[in-house]
Amino acid sequence: MINNYQKSEDHDVIIVGSGPGGLGVAATLEGWHPYLSDTLNFKFGPNIDNIIRRSQSDLLQFKPSELLYHNVRPIDFFRRYHHPENYSLNPDQYKIKFSKIKSLDWLMITSGKPGGLWNEVPRNQLTLGPSYWMELAHYPMKQFFVDFDLDRDPNELGHRDDIILYYEKFVERFNLHHKIRGGEKLVHVDKGDNERRFKLIVDTNSSQKVYECDYLVFAVGPKSQPRKLQWQDENNSFISNNYTYPGDYPGDSCVIVGGGRSSDWAATELYDAEKLVVYVMRQAKENHLRLIKDSLHLPYYQRLNVIMNSQSNRFKIMYDSEIKRFTDDGNVTVIDNKSQITSEIITDHLIVEIGASANYQLLSKWFPLTLISKRDNYRFQLMQMVCNQSTFESVDIPGLYPAGYLAEGTGLSVIGFHAGSYLIAGDIYRKINKFSNGE
Ligand SMILES: Cc1cc2nc3c(=O)[nH]c(=O)nc-3n(C[C@H](O)[C@H](O)[C@H](O)COP(=O)(O)OP(=O)(O)OC[C@H]3O[C@@H](n4cnc5c(N)ncnc54)[C@H](O)[C@@H]3O)c2cc1C
Repeated sequence: MINNYQKSEDHDVIIVGSGPGGLGVAATLEGWHPYLSDTLNFKFGPNIDNIIRRSQSDLLQFKPSELLYHNVRPIDFFRRYHHPENYSLNPDQYKIKFSKIKSLDWLMITSGKPGGLWNEVPRNQLTLGPSYWMELAHYPMKQFFVDFDLDRDPNELGHRDDIILYYEKFVERFNLHHKIRGGEKLVHVDKGDNERRFKLIVDTNSSQKVYECDYLVFAVGPKSQPRKLQWQDENNSFISNNYTYPGDYPGDSCVIVGGGRSSDWAATELYDAEKLVVYVMRQAKENHLRLIKDSLHLPYYQRLNVIMNSQSNRFKIMYDSEIKRFTDDGNVTVIDNKSQITSEIITDHLIVEIGASANYQLLSKWFPLTLISKRDNYRFQLMQMVCNQSTFESVDIPGLYPAGYLAEGTGLSVIGFHAGSYLIAGDIYRKINKFSNGE
């Protein structure tokens, strides 16, 4: 129910979310299209080369379905063109370059800042892979490091601060800021009343707004629906929902609830800050140890492994366990689900890092959606929207394009999904031209 809404505004395209998924589409809709700077010498074979050669000066113009016809997934084609090697190229070595054509009428609505969930991760969080894996092809990470005089190797893990700065500068470089509305949260999508296909109900600090559009890019990310413990109270300062930095947790001790990467990071960093750490997780010991073993190429997992093997009396993991209750004065009750034995723990902080999911509730008007479960070696797991692999248009909702993590057929990393932005933007360009030609 809308009580105090501002007058409706409408655009051809609205993107929801300013993470890497949304930003890649934004730059492409702004008119920054990929072209091939070099004659073709790629290994996709003559059929594909012929298709591409016809559109060499604007790669959004060939029909990606033609690649699928020849058993090449369009998203893989673009990704392999941009990332042909297992290391970061020099900017002038990239074969795909970008030139500017006329932009479409688009707007971005986002509750967060450029860089999406990277604004919410722990203050010292490092990436899981080389920092150039986080780049959008429009702006190579190496070029960003040169431009801002940062003495970094893009083949190394990236620090959260650099990653956020990269996305901020991406927005500036492609002049996207004037079309981004920050601090606006989508609360519901409906079918449009007027000429437009979609109606978006959006909360701002002071009011609700209604936007309308024909094409909706749904890039709200894998954490848009936070998970909470049953009894969790927003206003209790004893509990933190997002781990940040040891200095934010005065006192000697913390109980961490979780079992994923964010809670592993918190446990390691708090232990190294001399805290007494009790780490509570529902999963079995074997599962946790498997993830740690699979992650030992990462320095922060090597450190966690050392801590866990140290038998330190400042570090305790309780597997197969969960929080039963707590009191505001720091008394936490944990139950072991196997033995049903409860333990009482006195602590200064309770840090809850139990993950989140994608907020498909926003699209409840179209339920049931066709979703597919996706999981990768890095233990990210979520439900993705099934979509056309040539265009990334949802199979359930014409005109809606899941972007970033939420689209089926993308890996769970920026390197895996950034090329989806060309397919989405290309399809929208094609459809809008069609409409304007009256076809
Ligand atoms: C600890 C950690 C380490 C990681 N390491 C890597 C790595 O090394 N490499 C890699 O590629 N990926 C990594 N990732 C994965 C990461 O999720 C992606 O890098 C990326 O941020 C996902 O992009 P996205 O655009 O799909 O979503 P997000 O980055 O989550 O962006 C979603 C955006 O939508 C906005 N939003 C959400 N709901 C609404 C709403 N209702 N209304 C308006 N706006 C909304 C949010 O404010 C945000 O701006 C890591 C993730 C974590 C947590």
